[in-house]
Amino acid sequence: MKKVIYPGSFDPMTNGHVDIINRTLSTFDEVVVAVIKNHEKSPTFSLDERMGFIKGAFFHEPRVTVEVFSGLLVDFAGLHNTNVVVRGLRATSDFEYEFQLAAMNRKLNPQFETVFLMTSSDTYFLSSRLIRDIAFLGGDVSKMVPAHVNEALKAQAKEKQC
Ligand code: ADP
Repeated sequence: MKKVIYPGSFDPMTNGHVDIINRTLSTFDEVVVAVIKNHEKSPTFSLDERMGFIKGAFFHEPRVTVEVFSGLLVDFAGLHNTNVVVRGLRATSDFEYEFQLAAMNRKLNPQFETVFLMTSSDTYFLSSRLIRDIAFLGGDVSKMVPAHVNEALKAQAKEKQC
């Protein structure tokens, strides 16, 4: 049973994240999506909302589970009896941070492996921050996020206008 952890803030989940999870499922048996609780900045969506977005997108897929994550990634992975995490790589700007993070995790646990999946041609330009910015300025992001995330973004945008 090959299990992998996919950590992130998912604020909110985009089709880029959905793509990475779907592709991970073709190589691994099980994906634990680890939603970071202690975000550096205060997140736009609550922990429950961010977890709900992922559960809503993968309710039909029992091989995807969603969990809260705080603390060290190597410890979280150990609790799930795995030493593998998956990360998505977009442009070169992602590389430096991901390279450092993977090296640090390797220092903390020499058995630790980070698997990188290259972004897809349909999703390479998607980031949660950009999606939020566009949506809150009234732009149409319906083709870039799952339908229920789009609804939540529209509701937040409305709230912000009041
Ligand atoms: P973080 O909060 O760690 O900056 P996110 O929660 O946005 O990152 O994303 C979690 C993971 O998903 C990261 O590895 C990130 O690179 C990856 N990711 C996000 N958007 C995309 C995308 N459009 N294509 C591929 N990977 C992506």
